[in-house]
Amino acid sequence: MSLTWEEERRPIDLHVHTTASDGDMTPAACVEEAKRVGLAAIAVTDHDTTAGNAEAEARGAELGVEVVPGVEVSVEHEALTVHLLGYWPEANAPALGALLAGLREQREERNPRILRRLAELGYPLDEAELIAEAGGGVIGRPHIAALMIRKGYVASLDEAFDRFLAKGAAAYVERGKPAPEAAIKALLAARAVPVLAHPATIGARSEAEVERLVAQLKEMGLRGIEAYYHAYSPGQIAACLRLARRFGLLVTGGTDYHGTRKPEVRLGCIGGGLCVPYRLLALLKAERGRL
Ligand code: AMP
Ligand code: FE
Ligand code: FE
Ligand code: ZN
Repeated sequence: MSLTWEEERRPIDLHVHTTASDGDMTPAACVEEAKRVGLAAIAVTDHDTTAGNAEAEARGAELGVEVVPGVEVSVEHEALTVHLLGYWPEANAPALGALLAGLREQREERNPRILRRLAELGYPLDEAELIAEAGGGVIGRPHIAALMIRKGYVASLDEAFDRFLAKGAAAYVERGKPAPEAAIKALLAARAVPVLAHPATIGARSEAEVERLVAQLKEMGLRGIEAYYHAYSPGQIAACLRLARRFGLLVTGGTDYHGTRKPEVRLGCIGGGLCVPYRLLALLKAERGRL
């Protein structure tokens, strides 16, 4: 299907979190926000779950906003924080289902340990309150941060991460994650297009380190990289685009929207007044067709 020029440049957002993980707007509310700000499409990419996709797709069909079902998984790669996005995972794909269930189990093991560390530091939190904060969604550190704000322990999400929750901070606890090979294999087996999320913010110390990672992931079957991201400078975007070209990868873009939890992030708004054009989604879709 060929698109007109007007259709190709419609704004989209391919990285959105909902209450199914650590966003604080329901899947339907995210689609409503997309409609309000005039986006043609959004992808729902919750951490370690696809539970929000169906609700978003249903609301999208009602409102005329295209909803791409997706997921975001964390993988273990040396000291880096590597996240993979997967677009259009098939429902009931056994390997991906097992991978996501394993990731959620590792979270369940980690969360009480973080609470214990915080209690030792003099900042007790109630596990039942944490579960309530997540409202049945996959629990992540942003939920712990939200509780800490509510208790008056910290003033902001950033303070909670900087002082307690970020890697290396006082209450940080590592959680078990799959190797990138296993995650990419499971995504491909589910016919999900695997894309490296926010490549400039994985904790790499140099561009060469990112390049090495991308080369390895490409060998494993990676198909794209998220070159447009809400916080990226023109220089970072350019570096991602160079990587994509060098390794023959598709380019995607999204904001990593988390609702009002991260109010500085606006749905569909990449820094510098940029929007992600629908054309990138059309190319991604074509790649899905080849899987
Ligand atoms: P978790 O999924 O529990 O490992 O937590 C990771 C999530 O926490 C990310 O997806 C972000 O939403 C959020 N996050 C990670 N680092 C930071 C940070 N430094 N400041 C604010 N939010 C963060
Ligand atoms: Fe998140
Ligand atoms: Fe991420
Ligand atoms: Zn994300």
